[in-house]
Amino acid sequence: MKAEILAVGTELLLGDILNTNAQYLAKELAALGIEVYYQTVVGDNPKRLEDTLYHAFSRADLVITTGGLGPTEDDLTKETAAKYFGEPLVLDEKALTQIQVFFDRIGRTMTENNKKQAFVPENNSVIMYNPNGTAPGIIIEKEGKIIIMLPGPPKEVVPMFENQAKPYLAKKQEYTFISRILRVASVGESAMEVMVKDLIDAQTNPTIAPYAKEGEALLRITAKAKDEEEANRLIDPVAAALQERLGKAVYAEGETNMETEVAKLLVAQKKTIAVAESCTGGEISSQLVRYPGISEVFLEGCVTYTNEAKIKRLGVLEETLAKFGAVSKETALEMAEGIAKTAGAEIGIATTGIAGPDGGSEDKPVGLVYMGIYHNGVVEAKEFHFAGDRNKIRDRATFQALDWLRR
Ligand code: ATP
Ligand code: MG
Repeated sequence: MKAEILAVGTELLLGDILNTNAQYLAKELAALGIEVYYQTVVGDNPKRLEDTLYHAFSRADLVITTGGLGPTEDDLTKETAAKYFGEPLVLDEKALTQIQVFFDRIGRTMTENNKKQAFVPENNSVIMYNPNGTAPGIIIEKEGKIIIMLPGPPKEVVPMFENQAKPYLAKKQEYTFISRILRVASVGESAMEVMVKDLIDAQTNPTIAPYAKEGEALLRITAKAKDEEEANRLIDPVAAALQERLGKAVYAEGETNMETEVAKLLVAQKKTIAVAESCTGGEISSQLVRYPGISEVFLEGCVTYTNEAKIKRLGVLEETLAKFGAVSKETALEMAEGIAKTAGAEIGIATTGIAGPDGGSEDKPVGLVYMGIYHNGVVEAKEFHFAGDRNKIRDRATFQALDWLRR
Protein backbone atom coordinates (compact mmCIF):
# COMPACT_ATOMS: atom_id res chain seq x y z
CA MET A 1 0.00 0.00 0.00
CA LYS A 2 1.41 3.37 -1.07
CA ALA A 3 0.63 6.23 1.24
CA GLU A 4 0.78 10.01 1.24
CA ILE A 5 0.58 12.29 4.25
CA LEU A 6 -1.24 15.52 3.58
CA ALA A 7 -1.08 18.22 6.23
CA VAL A 8 -3.64 20.98 5.82
CA GLY A 9 -3.13 24.41 7.37
CA THR A 10 -1.88 27.83 6.38
CA GLU A 11 0.11 28.12 9.65
CA LEU A 12 2.21 25.17 8.46
CA LEU A 13 2.94 26.84 5.14
CA LEU A 14 3.94 30.06 6.84
CA GLY A 15 6.29 28.27 9.18
CA ASP A 16 4.37 29.33 12.28
CA ILE A 17 4.12 25.74 13.47
CA LEU A 18 6.18 22.67 12.84
CA ASN A 19 4.60 19.73 11.02
CA THR A 20 5.00 17.29 13.88
CA ASN A 21 1.89 15.37 12.79
CA ALA A 22 3.66 14.33 9.59
CA GLN A 23 6.71 13.18 11.52
CA TYR A 24 4.57 11.16 13.91
CA LEU A 25 2.48 9.58 11.16
CA ALA A 26 5.48 8.80 8.96
CA LYS A 27 7.10 6.85 11.78
CA GLU A 28 3.90 5.01 12.61
CA LEU A 29 3.26 4.06 8.99
CA ALA A 30 6.81 2.82 8.58
CA ALA A 31 6.34 0.61 11.62
CA LEU A 32 3.17 -0.77 10.05
CA GLY A 33 5.08 -1.57 6.87
CA ILE A 34 3.16 1.01 4.83
CA GLU A 35 5.37 2.92 2.44
CA VAL A 36 5.05 6.69 2.48
CA TYR A 37 5.98 8.06 -0.94
CA TYR A 38 5.09 11.70 -0.44
CA GLN A 39 4.42 14.22 2.34
CA THR A 40 2.55 17.31 1.28
CA VAL A 41 1.49 20.54 2.94
CA VAL A 42 -1.31 22.73 1.63
CA GLY A 43 -2.92 25.89 3.00
CA ASP A 44 -6.57 26.39 3.92
CA ASN A 45 -7.59 27.19 0.35
CA PRO A 46 -10.46 25.27 -1.27
CA LYS A 47 -9.07 25.12 -4.80
CA ARG A 48 -5.53 24.19 -3.84
CA LEU A 49 -6.76 21.69 -1.26
CA GLU A 50 -8.89 19.97 -3.88
CA ASP A 51 -6.04 19.91 -6.41
CA THR A 52 -3.67 18.49 -3.84
CA LEU A 53 -6.05 15.80 -2.68
CA TYR A 54 -6.85 14.66 -6.22
CA HIS A 55 -3.15 14.68 -7.05
CA ALA A 56 -2.39 12.64 -3.93
CA PHE A 57 -4.91 9.99 -4.97
CA SER A 58 -3.41 9.84 -8.46
CA ARG A 59 -0.26 8.37 -6.90
CA ALA A 60 -1.30 6.83 -3.56
CA ASP A 61 -3.82 4.26 -2.31
CA LEU A 62 -3.95 5.74 1.16
CA VAL A 63 -4.01 9.43 2.01
CA ILE A 64 -3.83 10.51 5.65
CA THR A 65 -4.79 14.12 6.27
CA THR A 66 -4.43 16.20 9.40
CA GLY A 67 -6.13 19.52 10.05
CA GLY A 68 -8.99 21.36 8.44
CA LEU A 69 -11.73 19.53 10.33
CA GLY A 70 -12.58 22.53 12.47
CA PRO A 71 -15.87 24.43 12.62
CA THR A 72 -14.88 27.45 10.55
CA GLU A 73 -15.53 28.27 6.89
CA ASP A 74 -11.96 27.58 5.89
CA ASP A 75 -11.93 24.07 7.37
CA LEU A 76 -12.73 22.07 4.24
CA THR A 77 -10.88 18.78 4.35
CA LYS A 78 -14.00 16.68 4.95
CA GLU A 79 -16.06 18.46 2.30
CA THR A 80 -13.29 18.07 -0.27
CA ALA A 81 -12.83 14.36 0.49
CA ALA A 82 -16.60 13.76 0.36
CA LYS A 83 -16.63 15.34 -3.08
CA TYR A 84 -13.71 13.18 -4.28
CA PHE A 85 -15.44 9.99 -3.11
CA GLY A 86 -18.89 11.14 -4.24
CA GLU A 87 -20.34 10.67 -0.77
CA PRO A 88 -22.96 13.11 0.51
CA LEU A 89 -22.57 14.38 4.10
CA VAL A 90 -25.31 13.76 6.63
CA LEU A 91 -25.75 14.75 10.26
CA ASP A 92 -24.51 12.11 12.71
CA GLU A 93 -26.45 12.35 15.97
CA LYS A 94 -23.77 10.55 17.99
CA ALA A 95 -21.08 12.94 16.79
CA LEU A 96 -23.31 15.88 17.65
CA THR A 97 -23.88 14.55 21.17
CA GLN A 98 -20.14 13.99 21.62
CA ILE A 99 -19.39 17.58 20.63
CA GLN A 100 -22.08 18.81 23.03
CA VAL A 101 -20.59 16.67 25.84
CA PHE A 102 -17.11 18.00 25.10
CA PHE A 103 -18.29 21.61 25.38
CA ASP A 104 -20.15 20.86 28.63
CA ARG A 105 -17.02 19.31 30.07
CA ILE A 106 -14.84 22.32 29.33
CA GLY A 107 -17.61 24.64 30.50
CA ARG A 108 -18.22 26.45 27.21
CA THR A 109 -21.29 26.80 25.06
CA MET A 110 -21.34 25.10 21.73
CA THR A 111 -21.80 27.46 18.82
CA GLU A 112 -24.02 26.84 15.79
CA ASN A 113 -21.04 26.38 13.45
CA ASN A 114 -19.74 23.46 15.54
CA LYS A 115 -22.69 21.54 14.10
CA LYS A 116 -20.74 21.40 10.84
CA GLN A 117 -18.29 19.04 12.53
CA ALA A 118 -21.02 16.47 13.15
CA PHE A 119 -21.65 15.95 9.42
CA VAL A 120 -20.18 12.73 8.10
CA PRO A 121 -20.29 10.75 4.85
CA GLU A 122 -23.40 8.63 4.59
CA ASN A 123 -21.72 5.40 3.37
CA ASN A 124 -18.38 3.62 3.06
CA SER A 125 -17.01 5.34 6.12
CA VAL A 126 -15.93 4.86 9.71
CA ILE A 127 -16.36 7.67 12.22
CA MET A 128 -13.57 8.05 14.75
CA TYR A 129 -15.22 9.77 17.72
CA ASN A 130 -12.93 12.23 19.45
CA PRO A 131 -12.87 12.29 23.26
CA ASN A 132 -10.10 14.93 23.22
CA GLY A 133 -11.68 17.57 21.03
CA THR A 134 -14.64 18.44 18.88
CA ALA A 135 -13.94 17.19 15.38
CA PRO A 136 -14.47 13.47 14.84
CA GLY A 137 -12.00 11.85 12.49
CA ILE A 138 -13.29 10.01 9.45
CA ILE A 139 -12.14 7.10 7.34
CA ILE A 140 -13.62 6.66 3.87
CA GLU A 141 -12.76 3.56 1.89
CA LYS A 142 -14.07 3.03 -1.60
CA GLU A 143 -12.84 1.28 -4.73
CA GLY A 144 -9.34 0.62 -3.46
CA LYS A 145 -8.74 4.13 -2.15
CA ILE A 146 -8.66 5.07 1.52
CA ILE A 147 -8.63 8.45 3.18
CA ILE A 148 -8.03 8.83 6.89
CA MET A 149 -8.90 12.32 8.08
CA LEU A 150 -7.50 13.35 11.44
CA PRO A 151 -7.89 16.68 13.25
CA GLY A 152 -4.99 19.16 13.53
CA PRO A 153 -3.98 19.32 17.19
CA PRO A 154 -1.32 16.66 17.96
CA LYS A 155 -2.91 15.81 21.31
CA GLU A 156 -6.01 14.72 19.37
CA VAL A 157 -4.13 13.17 16.44
CA VAL A 158 -1.97 10.80 18.47
CA PRO A 159 -4.69 9.01 20.49
CA MET A 160 -7.05 8.90 17.52
CA PHE A 161 -4.45 7.36 15.26
CA GLU A 162 -3.21 4.98 17.92
CA ASN A 163 -6.61 3.72 19.06
CA GLN A 164 -8.69 3.90 15.93
CA ALA A 165 -6.81 4.42 12.66
CA LYS A 166 -3.87 2.14 13.41
CA PRO A 167 -5.96 -0.96 14.19
CA TYR A 168 -7.91 -0.28 10.98
CA LEU A 169 -4.70 -0.19 8.94
CA ALA A 170 -3.02 -3.06 10.79
CA LYS A 171 -5.86 -5.35 9.72
CA LYS A 172 -5.05 -4.66 6.09
CA GLN A 173 -1.35 -5.32 6.47
CA GLU A 174 -0.15 -8.84 5.99
CA TYR A 175 3.13 -7.95 7.68
CA THR A 176 4.34 -5.49 10.24
CA PHE A 177 7.84 -4.41 11.16
CA ILE A 178 9.01 -5.12 14.68
CA SER A 179 12.32 -3.85 16.03
CA ARG A 180 14.60 -4.62 18.90
CA ILE A 181 17.44 -2.34 19.96
CA LEU A 182 20.79 -3.39 21.36
CA ARG A 183 22.58 -0.63 23.25
CA VAL A 184 26.33 -0.62 22.89
CA ALA A 185 28.82 1.30 25.02
CA SER A 186 32.56 1.95 24.82
CA VAL A 187 32.85 1.35 21.09
CA GLY A 188 32.00 4.18 18.72
CA GLU A 189 29.35 3.72 16.05
CA SER A 190 31.84 3.22 13.23
CA ALA A 191 34.02 0.81 15.20
CA MET A 192 30.93 -1.15 16.11
CA GLU A 193 29.86 -1.28 12.48
CA VAL A 194 33.21 -2.73 11.48
CA MET A 195 32.97 -5.37 14.20
CA VAL A 196 29.62 -6.64 12.96
CA LYS A 197 29.77 -5.74 9.27
CA ASP A 198 29.63 -9.32 8.01
CA LEU A 199 26.59 -10.00 10.17
CA ILE A 200 24.87 -6.89 8.83
CA ASP A 201 25.64 -7.85 5.24
CA ALA A 202 24.45 -11.42 5.69
CA GLN A 203 21.00 -10.37 6.96
CA THR A 204 17.88 -9.63 4.96
CA ASN A 205 15.11 -10.48 7.42
CA PRO A 206 15.68 -9.24 10.04
CA THR A 207 17.85 -6.34 8.96
CA ILE A 208 20.48 -4.81 11.23
CA ALA A 209 21.02 -1.06 11.25
CA PRO A 210 23.68 0.69 13.33
CA TYR A 211 23.23 4.26 14.44
CA ALA A 212 24.53 6.69 17.02
CA LYS A 213 22.47 8.49 19.61
CA GLU A 214 23.61 10.82 22.39
CA GLY A 215 27.01 9.30 22.92
CA GLU A 216 26.10 5.66 22.59
CA ALA A 217 25.91 3.32 19.64
CA LEU A 218 22.73 1.41 18.88
CA LEU A 219 21.93 -1.58 16.73
CA ARG A 220 18.37 -1.82 15.53
CA ILE A 221 17.28 -5.29 14.46
CA THR A 222 14.08 -5.11 12.43
CA ALA A 223 12.03 -8.10 11.38
CA LYS A 224 9.25 -8.22 8.83
CA ALA A 225 6.78 -10.62 10.35
CA LYS A 226 3.12 -11.59 10.76
CA ASP A 227 3.15 -11.01 14.49
CA GLU A 228 5.37 -10.49 17.50
CA GLU A 229 5.95 -14.18 18.01
CA GLU A 230 7.29 -14.66 14.50
CA ALA A 231 9.36 -11.49 14.84
CA ASN A 232 10.97 -12.76 18.03
CA ARG A 233 11.76 -16.05 16.36
CA LEU A 234 13.57 -14.18 13.61
CA ILE A 235 15.29 -11.67 15.87
CA ASP A 236 16.48 -13.93 18.73
CA PRO A 237 19.33 -15.73 16.89
CA VAL A 238 20.53 -12.50 15.27
CA ALA A 239 20.56 -10.68 18.61
CA ALA A 240 22.48 -13.60 20.12
CA ALA A 241 25.10 -13.51 17.34
CA LEU A 242 25.57 -9.76 17.80
CA GLN A 243 25.82 -10.16 21.57
CA GLU A 244 28.46 -12.82 21.18
CA ARG A 245 30.49 -10.68 18.81
CA LEU A 246 30.32 -7.52 20.89
CA GLY A 247 30.52 -9.15 24.29
CA LYS A 248 30.26 -6.87 27.30
CA ALA A 249 30.00 -3.80 25.09
CA VAL A 250 26.28 -4.59 24.74
CA TYR A 251 24.96 -3.18 27.97
CA ALA A 252 21.22 -3.55 27.48
CA GLU A 253 18.30 -4.21 25.15
CA GLY A 254 15.38 -1.92 24.44
CA GLU A 255 14.33 1.43 25.86
CA THR A 256 16.62 2.08 28.81
CA ASN A 257 19.84 3.97 29.56
CA MET A 258 23.21 3.48 31.17
CA GLU A 259 22.41 5.00 34.56
CA THR A 260 19.33 2.83 34.97
CA GLU A 261 21.20 -0.34 34.09
CA VAL A 262 24.10 0.42 36.43
CA ALA A 263 21.85 1.42 39.30
CA LYS A 264 19.79 -1.75 38.83
CA LEU A 265 22.93 -3.84 38.96
CA LEU A 266 24.26 -2.17 42.12
CA VAL A 267 20.93 -2.64 43.88
CA ALA A 268 20.61 -6.25 42.73
CA GLN A 269 24.13 -7.06 43.93
CA LYS A 270 23.69 -4.97 47.09
CA LYS A 271 27.00 -3.16 46.53
CA THR A 272 27.33 0.08 48.44
CA ILE A 273 28.87 2.95 46.55
CA ALA A 274 30.25 6.45 47.13
CA VAL A 275 31.28 8.94 44.46
CA ALA A 276 33.97 11.65 44.43
CA GLU A 277 33.76 13.94 41.43
CA SER A 278 35.89 16.73 40.17
CA CYS A 279 35.32 17.43 36.47
CA THR A 280 31.93 15.68 36.28
CA GLY A 281 30.66 17.97 39.05
CA GLY A 282 28.08 15.67 40.56
CA GLU A 283 26.71 14.24 37.33
CA ILE A 284 27.51 10.63 38.22
CA SER A 285 25.73 10.95 41.56
CA SER A 286 22.84 12.81 40.03
CA GLN A 287 22.33 10.15 37.36
CA LEU A 288 22.50 7.27 39.81
CA VAL A 289 19.98 8.81 42.19
CA ARG A 290 17.42 9.03 39.39
CA TYR A 291 16.84 5.37 39.99
CA PRO A 292 14.19 4.70 42.61
CA GLY A 293 15.53 2.32 45.24
CA ILE A 294 19.15 3.47 44.88
CA SER A 295 19.13 4.60 48.53
CA GLU A 296 19.78 1.01 49.54
CA VAL A 297 23.30 1.23 48.12
CA PHE A 298 24.18 4.84 47.36
CA LEU A 299 25.94 6.24 50.44
CA GLU A 300 27.24 9.63 49.34
CA GLY A 301 28.54 11.77 46.53
CA CYS A 302 31.07 14.61 46.91
CA VAL A 303 32.05 17.26 44.44
CA THR A 304 35.65 17.85 45.49
CA TYR A 305 36.66 20.53 43.05
CA THR A 306 39.63 22.24 44.67
CA ASN A 307 42.89 20.65 45.76
CA GLU A 308 42.00 21.59 49.30
CA ALA A 309 38.72 19.69 49.12
CA LYS A 310 40.50 16.67 47.72
CA ILE A 311 42.95 16.77 50.62
CA LYS A 312 40.48 17.53 53.42
CA ARG A 313 37.54 15.49 52.32
CA LEU A 314 39.21 12.52 50.65
CA GLY A 315 42.65 12.40 52.20
CA VAL A 316 44.50 12.87 48.92
CA LEU A 317 48.15 13.56 49.81
CA GLU A 318 49.57 17.02 49.29
CA GLU A 319 52.68 15.46 47.78
CA THR A 320 50.62 13.58 45.21
CA LEU A 321 48.94 16.78 44.08
CA ALA A 322 52.26 18.66 44.02
CA LYS A 323 54.11 15.95 42.14
CA PHE A 324 51.48 14.71 39.64
CA GLY A 325 48.83 17.42 39.64
CA ALA A 326 45.11 17.20 40.36
CA VAL A 327 44.45 15.72 36.93
CA SER A 328 46.50 12.55 37.20
CA LYS A 329 46.19 8.84 37.61
CA GLU A 330 47.69 9.05 41.08
CA THR A 331 45.12 11.60 42.26
CA ALA A 332 42.26 9.56 40.78
CA LEU A 333 43.48 6.48 42.67
CA GLU A 334 43.65 8.34 45.98
CA MET A 335 40.28 10.00 45.42
CA ALA A 336 38.57 6.66 44.76
CA GLU A 337 40.13 5.00 47.77
CA GLY A 338 39.52 8.08 49.93
CA ILE A 339 35.81 8.33 49.19
CA ALA A 340 35.23 4.59 49.63
CA LYS A 341 37.02 4.49 52.97
CA THR A 342 35.59 7.68 54.47
CA ALA A 343 32.07 6.77 53.36
CA GLY A 344 32.44 3.14 54.36
CA ALA A 345 31.41 1.96 50.89
CA GLU A 346 32.40 -1.21 49.07
CA ILE A 347 32.87 0.74 45.87
CA GLY A 348 34.41 4.19 45.46
CA ILE A 349 34.50 5.92 42.10
CA ALA A 350 36.31 9.16 41.28
CA THR A 351 36.80 11.48 38.32
CA THR A 352 39.32 14.22 37.72
CA GLY A 353 39.92 15.89 34.38
CA ILE A 354 40.02 18.96 32.19
CA ALA A 355 36.62 19.84 30.79
CA GLY A 356 37.83 23.05 29.15
CA PRO A 357 37.60 25.27 27.27
CA ASP A 358 40.56 26.65 29.29
CA GLY A 359 43.06 24.87 31.45
CA GLY A 360 44.52 22.50 28.87
CA SER A 361 48.20 22.17 28.12
CA GLU A 362 50.34 20.16 25.75
CA ASP A 363 50.75 17.19 28.03
CA LYS A 364 47.33 17.58 29.65
CA PRO A 365 44.94 18.64 26.90
CA VAL A 366 41.27 19.54 27.27
CA GLY A 367 39.27 16.32 27.36
CA LEU A 368 41.81 14.38 29.43
CA VAL A 369 40.02 12.61 32.27
CA TYR A 370 41.31 10.15 34.85
CA MET A 371 38.94 7.87 36.67
CA GLY A 372 39.54 5.67 39.65
CA ILE A 373 37.56 2.78 41.02
CA TYR A 374 38.10 1.26 44.43
CA HIS A 375 36.48 -2.11 44.98
CA ASN A 376 37.11 -4.49 47.89
CA GLY A 377 40.61 -3.31 48.72
CA VAL A 378 41.79 -2.97 45.12
CA VAL A 379 42.08 0.41 43.44
CA GLU A 380 42.52 0.98 39.71
CA ALA A 381 42.71 4.06 37.51
CA LYS A 382 42.23 4.64 33.80
CA GLU A 383 42.99 7.47 31.42
CA PHE A 384 40.40 8.72 28.91
CA HIS A 385 40.36 11.35 26.18
CA PHE A 386 37.01 12.87 25.28
CA ALA A 387 36.12 15.21 22.44
CA GLY A 388 33.55 18.00 22.45
CA ASP A 389 32.76 21.12 24.39
CA ARG A 390 32.77 21.39 28.18
CA ASN A 391 29.39 19.78 28.71
CA LYS A 392 29.92 17.04 26.11
CA ILE A 393 33.15 16.11 27.85
CA ARG A 394 31.41 15.99 31.23
CA ASP A 395 28.53 13.90 29.81
CA ARG A 396 30.87 11.49 28.09
CA ALA A 397 33.03 11.10 31.18
CA THR A 398 29.92 10.36 33.23
CA PHE A 399 28.69 7.78 30.73
CA GLN A 400 32.10 6.16 30.64
CA ALA A 401 32.42 6.09 34.44
CA LEU A 402 29.05 4.36 34.71
CA ASP A 403 30.02 1.93 31.97
CA TRP A 404 33.21 1.08 33.83
CA LEU A 405 31.23 0.51 37.04
CA ARG A 406 29.06 -2.03 35.25
CA ARG A 407 31.98 -4.23 34.18
P1 ATP B 1 -9.59 22.80 15.14
O1 ATP B 1 -10.93 22.23 15.43
O2 ATP B 1 -8.74 22.89 16.37
O3 ATP B 1 -9.60 24.02 14.27
P2 ATP B 1 -8.64 21.47 12.79
O4 ATP B 1 -8.86 20.04 12.46
O5 ATP B 1 -9.31 22.47 11.96
O6 ATP B 1 -8.90 21.61 14.30
P3 ATP B 1 -6.34 23.01 12.34
O7 ATP B 1 -7.18 24.24 12.54
O8 ATP B 1 -5.74 22.79 11.02
O9 ATP B 1 -7.12 21.71 12.73
O10 ATP B 1 -5.19 22.95 13.42
C1 ATP B 1 -5.47 23.18 14.79
C2 ATP B 1 -4.16 23.32 15.53
O11 ATP B 1 -3.49 22.07 15.54
C3 ATP B 1 -3.17 24.25 14.89
O12 ATP B 1 -3.31 25.57 15.30
C4 ATP B 1 -1.84 23.70 15.35
O13 ATP B 1 -1.53 24.15 16.63
C5 ATP B 1 -2.10 22.22 15.39
N1 ATP B 1 -1.67 21.56 14.14
C6 ATP B 1 -2.36 21.51 12.98
N2 ATP B 1 -1.71 20.81 12.05
C7 ATP B 1 -0.55 20.41 12.62
C8 ATP B 1 0.55 19.64 12.16
N3 ATP B 1 0.60 19.14 10.92
N4 ATP B 1 1.56 19.40 13.03
C9 ATP B 1 1.50 19.90 14.28
N5 ATP B 1 0.50 20.61 14.77
C10 ATP B 1 -0.53 20.88 13.96
MG1 MG C 1 -9.13 24.74 12.20
